[in-house]
Amino acid sequence: MLKGAESADVIVIGGGVIGLAIARSLALRGIRRVALIERATLGAEASHAAAGMLAPQAEADGADAFFELACASRDLYPAFADELREETGIDIELERTGTLYLAFTERDEEEIEHRYNWQRRAGLFVERLSADEARHLEPCISEELRGALRFPLDVQVENRRLIAALSTSVKQHGIRLLTDAHVKSIIIEGRVIEGVETSRGNVHAPVVVVATGAWTSLLASSNNNSLPVHVEPVRGQMLCFESNPRLARHVIYSPRGYIVPRLDGRLLAGSTTERVGFNKCMTGEGVHAITAHALEIAPAVGSLPLVDSWAGLRPCTEDEWPVIGACAETRGLFYAAGHYRNGILLAPLTGELVAEQITTGKAAPLINAFSPERFQCVGVN
Ligand SMILES: Cc1cc2nc3c(=O)[nH]c(=O)nc-3n(C[C@H](O)[C@H](O)[C@H](O)COP(=O)(O)OP(=O)(O)OC[C@H]3O[C@@H](n4cnc5c(N)ncnc54)[C@H](O)[C@@H]3O)c2cc1C
Repeated sequence: MLKGAESADVIVIGGGVIGLAIARSLALRGIRRVALIERATLGAEASHAAAGMLAPQAEADGADAFFELACASRDLYPAFADELREETGIDIELERTGTLYLAFTERDEEEIEHRYNWQRRAGLFVERLSADEARHLEPCISEELRGALRFPLDVQVENRRLIAALSTSVKQHGIRLLTDAHVKSIIIEGRVIEGVETSRGNVHAPVVVVATGAWTSLLASSNNNSLPVHVEPVRGQMLCFESNPRLARHVIYSPRGYIVPRLDGRLLAGSTTERVGFNKCMTGEGVHAITAHALEIAPAVGSLPLVDSWAGLRPCTEDEWPVIGACAETRGLFYAAGHYRNGILLAPLTGELVAEQITTGKAAPLINAFSPERFQCVGVN
């Protein structure tokens, strides 16, 4: 049985970057009794596996509600990083050199031309670079380069330091952390949230936030119905090289892969997009594809020591957009899941938006397009 935590004002299920950001925002808004329940350790899953790119512009082919959300969250990062450093002493290494997007084929060139044109028309910061200009910025880039875009506002963060900072922050804010506690089901009476049943006993609360990443569809409600939002795991494999001195300073993408230079000399190379269930294995095919795409960007990667590798499960909804906000059919039930490729990027704003809706009862216009209602959030009771 859980001692001293049998009830809370708000329960957040899932201690990844999304659950942690929400718990912190709730505490900052004065909610005193927040319980964060994590079945393993904080940040153990996708949030640990990520590359930490905060790059809404680099891959966007048009402005839509998702692009707006992503840019707004990216723009919160400088203040977010400063606040976390002040609160915890941990530097999340918000690295602002910018992102390069490279073209190696005629088709790649058409893609970057289109991206450059719409983003310039929309008044966004983007620079077009000749191959020589890009290679002058990053001499490691292959001589096969045809042209590039530079996105000065698309940056990166050290996501593992971010998890450490958020974990320290939520402890300092007095949030009740229950790790090694698996939530088996959400207790719903009529159409009202009562709490959760965990592997260590029940916890009661009038508000429950589901932030369980790729495992969201496995959660049941007390009458054994599954919850209506469907989230699928999408595996991403990653390689980590040692690069001392650093091979590059920018995050560098091609349409096929990316390399991310960390301040400590690690160079990440990613990734794959695989629908293989809850399987986090590295595979020969995955390693081969990532290596080939990294070598296309920077041939010198071929001589770097490979020091680590891992795979994580991105949480993906049916329309690949996150599901954020209240479930109208069940009072007290909120979702913050399905952040797919962009959970690190979207964490500060998701935390703010969910905490705002819980504390004020009002949904900010920004989250309308991400409401669980688009999946007909009914039939949970
Ligand atoms: C290879 C790779 C590269 C990526 N690169 C980037 C990037 O560059 N930029 C970016 O923005 N995003 C990136 N992402 C995506 C990002 O990692 C995810 O979108 C984000 O981490 C999702 O956060 P989350 O908190 O929703 O999920 P998670 O971090 O997976 O956390 C969910 C948590 O819920 C817990 N949980 C699940 N079920 C239960 C239960 N029943 N009871 C209790 N606890 C439970 C899990 O143990 C887990 O800790 C990448 C992902 C991968 C795999």
